[in-house]
Amino acid sequence: MTRNIVVIGAGIVGAACAARLVMAGERVTIIDRVGPGDSCSFGNAGGLSPSISFPLATPGMYRQIPGWLLDPDGPLVLSWKHLPAAAPWLARFLREGLPARSEEAAKGVRAMMRETFEDYEPLFEFARAKSLIHRVGQIYVFSTEEGFAKEEGAIRVRRELGFAQEILDADALRQHEPDLAPIFKRGVLLPTHGHCSNPQRLVQLLVEACVAAGARFERDSVVGIEIDGQGAKVSGTTSSYRADHVVLAGGIWSNDLIRPFGASVPLESHRGYHIQVPYGGVRPTRNVAWSEMKTLATPMDGGIRIAGTAEMAGVEPPPTARRFELLRQLGRQIYPALDTTAASEWMGHRPCTPDSLPVLGAVRGAPRIICAFGHGHIGLSGAAYTGRVIQQVVAGTADQEELKRFSHDRFN
Ligand SMILES: Cc1cc2nc3c(=O)[nH]c(=O)nc-3n(C[C@H](O)[C@H](O)[C@H](O)COP(=O)(O)OP(=O)(O)OC[C@H]3O[C@@H](n4cnc5c(N)ncnc54)[C@H](O)[C@@H]3O)c2cc1C
Repeated sequence: MTRNIVVIGAGIVGAACAARLVMAGERVTIIDRVGPGDSCSFGNAGGLSPSISFPLATPGMYRQIPGWLLDPDGPLVLSWKHLPAAAPWLARFLREGLPARSEEAAKGVRAMMRETFEDYEPLFEFARAKSLIHRVGQIYVFSTEEGFAKEEGAIRVRRELGFAQEILDADALRQHEPDLAPIFKRGVLLPTHGHCSNPQRLVQLLVEACVAAGARFERDSVVGIEIDGQGAKVSGTTSSYRADHVVLAGGIWSNDLIRPFGASVPLESHRGYHIQVPYGGVRPTRNVAWSEMKTLATPMDGGIRIAGTAEMAGVEPPPTARRFELLRQLGRQIYPALDTTAASEWMGHRPCTPDSLPVLGAVRGAPRIICAFGHGHIGLSGAAYTGRVIQQVVAGTADQEELKRFSHDRFN
């Protein structure tokens, strides 16, 4: 049976869901008010990181909160002005740091991330996107012994989970990445990781492949969803669309459309920034993540992207100019020969839940609406799992037990 599916949102999550649905023979309409991959999925660091095993909220993290408030130049920043609006999310985030809750969320993170490449493989094939994917490993680098010591727990867990990793000293680091600054004394090479060298193009290729296979892409802004006896009616500002199921992959804006069904979830933008520098004297081969500064440097098509920052300041305010200057400085600290004069600048909204898990699955009481949002810092990696699971939800073959941890109900 072929169903009519409307996918709201053409970021990487919506594109992965649409592709899986098209591949399964469904009739798909993708709607976005901007072009495919023009929002958060445009500017990420490209990291495809199957061994990421922890949520952001971990035991002991509350000690860091004063630092977030007091250091406007730190990797995690909370604007004082936004504090009242962010307070409920932060309270929930603190709660998610309790040991039992954090461990439970870690299981969800691992379930989503572990098969990143296996889940993506059919999508790369479908979209003919393999030239954008580089499974050349990723290196976490440490500028302090203290920073490296903090990684010990993660090293142990990766070992337990069977992920390959290699501990590098300063010389080995330089052998892998000769342009790295001498400030880095330690590193961990994760050979099963990789990166996408043009995250926006990946989304575009997925959507183009869907359209080539019979799907439609509509540039429209969705203002409401109604459920009636025949199915769902999706109202846009220029048109309306009938569907058997609606997949809501609207990133940070997703709550607007499920609030009328009593299903809104705590969602906060962790505003992320990047600068991208045209290639010159520096030629990295893989994604390098500076652990202490939570900053990533990725060789992209057309330049080196320095990305990072989680700034809680709301969706409306313009980017904070100072963050771009900080990224320039950090880029030059990672690669001293980096010339940042001609850097382009970008800021986008990571859709973050307090437990770092996305919201996946049907809305309670409105099962024709299926959530696929809230992937926070790991949505590029987690989109392929999401696409696979959402197609199963539509087909009625999803593992309901596995889905429970991703339900919007967990926040009630
Ligand atoms: C600096 C930075 C670095 C990152 N690095 C990585 C990384 O290395 N690895 C990784 O895995 N992840 C990374 N991420 C996270 C990743 O980019 C996000 O999790 C992911 O892009 C979220 O995708 P999305 O499709 O949910 O949202 P978006 O890309 O924001 O797409 C949502 C779309 O929905 C549309 N939409 C919403 N509401 C409506 C409506 N009512 N009508 C019409 N359209 C609507 C929007 O216009 C938008 O285009 C990073 C993020 C940032 C900011």
